[in-house]
Amino acid sequence: MNPTIVIKAITWTAPSDTRVGTRYTVSAPSPDAELRCDCPARTTCKHIARALAGELGRPRVRVTQRPVIRRTHAQASPEMRDLAASLDL
Ligand SMILES: [Zn+2]
Repeated sequence: MNPTIVIKAITWTAPSDTRVGTRYTVSAPSPDAELRCDCPARTTCKHIARALAGELGRPRVRVTQRPVIRRTHAQASPEMRDLAASLDL
C-alpha cells in the first residue's frame, strides 16, 4: 500500500563561482515547472545547467502525501530523494 506522493518543490543549492561563501538557489515549484535561479546573472546563469547535469548533487524535495502523514522530521526521506533524483527534469 503506497500513499500518493505529490512533489511540491525541488531545490538545489549552488555555490557562486566568483563570490566566496555565496550560495544561490535553483528551484522549481513542481516537477513540471521551469527551473529558476536566484543569482544576479540573467543571461549567463550556469547553476541551472549544473543542477540538470547532476553536478550539484541531489536536490532537496518537499513532498506531500495523501493521505497526509504527519512526520516529526521535515526532511525528505531517502526514498523521496531517490524519487526526485530519478525525475527527468
Ligand atoms: Zn544562477
